[in-house]
Amino acid sequence: EGVVIRAEGLRKYFPAGASGLWGRRKAFLRAVDGVSFHVREGETLGLVGESGCGKSTVGMLLLGLHRPDAGRVLYRGEDILALEGEAKRRMRRNIQVVFQDPQSSLDPRMLVKKAVGFPLEVNGLARGAEVTRRVEAMLAEVGLRPEHMYRYPHEFSGGQRQRINIARALITGPRFVVFDEPTSALDVSVQAQILNLVKDLQKRRGYSYLFISHDLSVIRHVSHRVAVMYLGRIVETAPRGDLFQTPRHPYTRALMAAVPKPDPARRQPLALLPGDVPSPVHIPPGCRFHPRCPEVMDVCRETEPAPVEVGPDHVVACHLWHGTGFDARRRSA
Ligand code: SF4
Ligand code: MG
Repeated sequence: EGVVIRAEGLRKYFPAGASGLWGRRKAFLRAVDGVSFHVREGETLGLVGESGCGKSTVGMLLLGLHRPDAGRVLYRGEDILALEGEAKRRMRRNIQVVFQDPQSSLDPRMLVKKAVGFPLEVNGLARGAEVTRRVEAMLAEVGLRPEHMYRYPHEFSGGQRQRINIARALITGPRFVVFDEPTSALDVSVQAQILNLVKDLQKRRGYSYLFISHDLSVIRHVSHRVAVMYLGRIVETAPRGDLFQTPRHPYTRALMAAVPKPDPARRQPLALLPGDVPSPVHIPPGCRFHPRCPEVMDVCRETEPAPVEVGPDHVVACHLWHGTGFDARRRSA
């Protein structure tokens, strides 16, 4: 099966002021600290982790909104950072993003027709009546009506505004879309409608998605495969069913244990796991999860665990599985 997006060894640090005894040593927030993954044609890869684990920065790197300090991003085998001019513009049309609504750039003074049609005009893909026709068709695809073109963003509910954001992202016909917490600001019932819309659009058009969320129930609903991120690293990747039935990494297990009951009145962010609150400025040595891990061993405090394949398409970076995994069984068979 074809790979649309491949991230290889991505690293992105941000300056975090001075630290150290004399304040002379420069500190860095290690937002993304060696991340590799791929997204296949027509697939949704869910990227889940607590807030501050670096998942949004990964999205920004794929979109070219941040430049990585190391590593590269390949779109169908082409290094997107090496592109320039027209090739770069063409690439930008193939990769789009939908953010949580409050972060959206829907201009309050811009009619929906203008906002959704803008990417067509700025990319020189359509003009005049053709823009109107395509905006109308795109709005229909996301469940809005033609008369909605002549209204302003504030005249819509949060769910409808998110439909408008999705229409704007998809109107240029991208092949790959990053969704960064697109439903986090919405009520649970509206959230489900938007997630189903996103899935339907994928089925109809064959899009590939990276879907970023801190919410495991959302991730479970939309993903084909899931990558779990902790302090700048991916610690486990697996097909959705495997991940939820047989999570292998202690962090993944802790996340699942912390999922709150689906009671909309009592929704809250993930319960804090025991141990130190993680900081991407002071990342623990060895396995970065070790201060909070219920299964910590001596080796974990010194040596960073390498990824091990524990099943088909199921990879985990944890010392518990070294030498006992799928690879080892295959080798001895
Ligand atoms: Fe826990 Fe060690 Fe595995 Fe890290 S490597 S998750 S500390 S068992
Ligand atoms: Mg985020």
